[in-house]
Amino acid sequence: MEHSLQLQDYADGYGFQVLCRACNHEMRISWFEIDQNPATHKYMRLQEVEKLLSCRHCKKLEIKLTVYIRHAQHHFIAGQP
Ligand SMILES: [Zn+2]
Repeated sequence: MEHSLQLQDYADGYGFQVLCRACNHEMRISWFEIDQNPATHKYMRLQEVEKLLSCRHCKKLEIKLTVYIRHAQHHFIAGQP
């Protein structure tokens, strides 16, 4: 049920790509930036979060939110005893 995934499911290792449907302005934001938005909470579905975000360029609420996998922030060294 990927449509029921909540914001908290993407807290680790994911980033968000925000595309404005109105002006095609594209930006990438981190989970923390969404989390800091007082209108959001961890149990929100992505579709709900999407409706809260406005374009930083044209300020319209016409955002398409997609998730991408970021590089791991912590580097584990493979092969170490
Ligand atoms: Zn825009």
